[in-house]
Amino acid sequence: MSEVARQDALEAVATLLAWVENELGGELSDDVRRRTPERVVAALSELLGGYQTPPEEPVRYQPEQRTPVVLDEIGFAALCEHHLLPFVGTVAVEYLPGAGVLGLSAIVREVERHAHRLQLQERLTSDIATGIARLARARLVRVTVRAEHSCLAIRGVRREGVIVTTQALAGREAASPSALAELERGRPPR
Ligand SMILES: [Zn+2]
Repeated sequence: MSEVARQDALEAVATLLAWVENELGGELSDDVRRRTPERVVAALSELLGGYQTPPEEPVRYQPEQRTPVVLDEIGFAALCEHHLLPFVGTVAVEYLPGAGVLGLSAIVREVERHAHRLQLQERLTSDIATGIARLARARLVRVTVRAEHSCLAIRGVRREGVIVTTQALAGREAASPSALAELERGRPPR
């Protein structure tokens, strides 16, 4: 972030805090007025760091492996682009390898690279699926995201405990029912 843009962001948070004081009648301490803009900008830089993260290297070509790769319950936190409130949950990645197998940490980093942006759950799901398919040169990738949205839980309709599930397929055999059956047959039981 350039210094000018960062200064603008700090001032924008200070403006929000002044609105809380003047319009909503909040009583803010000096510490909040002085230091909260810094803390908010630092937290947002971390939560939105995915834009700057370079993508992983795709797998090198290897003899084709037939067994599906399954990673359940990769935790993530993202910010919804409508309210800038977090949605938090888990990502399951399953794929039929094509030309090689991707390192497990590379999968986790790919999830984080897409989660740390302003997101919608549907787009997060398909971006991860497309990203993993490209990196793994996979025949088929299925990504399932389960998340609870703060913007649903604490504001608006205020429904806590609602888990939103989204799923996306990607890969060169994404439209093949037999590849999907193969993925499901090879999945270890839960
Ligand atoms: Zn939202």
